[in-house]
Amino acid sequence: MTILGIDLGTTNSAMAYVKNGQPEMIVNSRGERTTPSVFQKNINGELVVGSVAKNQYSSLPEQTVLEIKRKMGTDEKITVGETSFTPEQISAHFLKYLKQAAEDFLGEKITEAVITVPAYFSDAQRKATKIAGEIAGLKVERILNEPTAAAIAYGLDHPDSEKNIIVYDLGGGTFDISVVRLDKNLIEVKASAGDNHLGGMDLDRLLVDWVAEQFAEQYDVPLFSFGEASEITQRHARVKLEAENVKKSLSSELSATFNLPFLAVYEGKPISLDYTITRAEFEDIVRSLLEETLVHVDKAIHDAKLAPDAIDDIILIGGATRIPLVQKLVEAKFERMAKKDINPDEAVALGAAIQGAMKEDSLSEESSLMVIDVCPYTLGTDVLRIVDGKRQSGYFDILIRRNEPLPVTAKKIYNTVNDNQTTIDIGVYQGDDEDARVNDDLRITETPLIVDEIPENAAGKEKVEIMFRYDVNGLIQIEATVLSTGRTISQVLDAQRGIMSARQVKEAKLELFDDWEKSKLASEMKGVIRRAKKVRRNAEPQQAVQIEEAIQQLEYAIQETDVELVKAREEALLDLLMEIIE
Ligand code: ADP
Ligand code: MG
Repeated sequence: MTILGIDLGTTNSAMAYVKNGQPEMIVNSRGERTTPSVFQKNINGELVVGSVAKNQYSSLPEQTVLEIKRKMGTDEKITVGETSFTPEQISAHFLKYLKQAAEDFLGEKITEAVITVPAYFSDAQRKATKIAGEIAGLKVERILNEPTAAAIAYGLDHPDSEKNIIVYDLGGGTFDISVVRLDKNLIEVKASAGDNHLGGMDLDRLLVDWVAEQFAEQYDVPLFSFGEASEITQRHARVKLEAENVKKSLSSELSATFNLPFLAVYEGKPISLDYTITRAEFEDIVRSLLEETLVHVDKAIHDAKLAPDAIDDIILIGGATRIPLVQKLVEAKFERMAKKDINPDEAVALGAAIQGAMKEDSLSEESSLMVIDVCPYTLGTDVLRIVDGKRQSGYFDILIRRNEPLPVTAKKIYNTVNDNQTTIDIGVYQGDDEDARVNDDLRITETPLIVDEIPENAAGKEKVEIMFRYDVNGLIQIEATVLSTGRTISQVLDAQRGIMSARQVKEAKLELFDDWEKSKLASEMKGVIRRAKKVRRNAEPQQAVQIEEAIQQLEYAIQETDVELVKAREEALLDLLMEIIE
């Protein structure tokens, strides 16, 4: 039983497994070691994931979803053609595709996975990722932090080293920094920091803005202001893809060109763009954004209680660390070169596979590892304080400080504040401000966490013990006990805004299964239908009507995902075509 290691990225996903004690990448059906995290559902119900979907993005922007990871943990819905999806559902489609590809590659069923997330992902984002796995039919053995996964892969490759490393992960959508202590077989994360909204795609956006500026200067009209809405969407998609290409070229070249033939029609004339940008100009545009990463680096090494010169190795992962300016900034900060012996696109998936193998005990004796990770956020509740003789509510009372080793449990006892108070509403906040309300409220307001049935008593006499816990996945659990009666309420914080309920997950799982069946049928029948349409074009009117009827019957059966019926109607259509051709 293989536990699959999955790096579910904003831009690219990858997977790995452990074979004979060593982690190895798994290639997808096209032989690629990474799969673009791009999803498409076209009008005949066919689902397309990966490079093919990415290549068709500029022609089918409305049927295509990219960068869904940014929306995980929110209640935003994504419309693809006619269908509306939650972010979990879209991610589940990627996971389903990866699961299938791994099963084809390994020749066995996969039911369990370790899925990675940015270290700085919140409770809601982690939960959404876990749910995506469930919808795809995967038991999520562990949610693992991406930089930790990379450190695991690095640690396995460098046994017996005793050093402090930083893992600097700049991907497509997120930035993470972790400070890690490697001590022989112990991999101990000391601190993590990051930004869930900073990555290569933000650099692409700055380049799109640059193109729009050049255009406005040349033609005196905003680039995305004229034409039909669908044209503008397509135009934007083309410029965005080209911006990514230009950005990548500038990692190896000193200048690159935006080449966009027939991008638009303006005042009856076709317009092609051809703008050259130098690496130096690019660096001016993106420098301040990239410098922001260093603020997080400072925070992490400060939290780890280390000085920059105590860092021995710099590990760069994520595609955007190929940008020379990124390397320059980080290397200048630590006054040393980054390590080159780690693949920035593969380390995370390899580490996830190793984590999976640790559970299975399928690593060799000498490469056995022990991993300690930390919680990303400070967690606390809100309390009342007496300030200048007046009661003031909303103070943040910390239970767990960020960067505590996981799992971590904290308990505190709170008193009632009013006479005969029978309920307490427990606030759950993550953040670092002393005003609780400035921090993120993790509850949804409609279903607060309420401790009730507190016996009537004088103010301050009744005590409630509150327990907060981060488990090894970085997920939060809460428990409250009324001390005088022993009454306990306990829950994983799952009623959050935007998180799918158990019932919705179950439905989504069936729906996803059905969508892929339908997609399979639609692509199997594509050839027959195309052939039938060709025959119909040259057929007698009466025969043409018959063929059209048979095509519609077949399409209906596909819509119904009725395999038997599809087979029967395919046969009927083929028979009809034979008759007509003869
Ligand atoms: P994620 O983990 O978020 O899916 P990746 O680690 O795959 O992301 O990195 C993807 C990002 O890296 C994209 O924004 C991509 O444009 C960028 N990227 C990939 N190769 C290069 C390169 N040679 N130069 C600059 N950026 C690159
Ligand atoms: Mg990544």
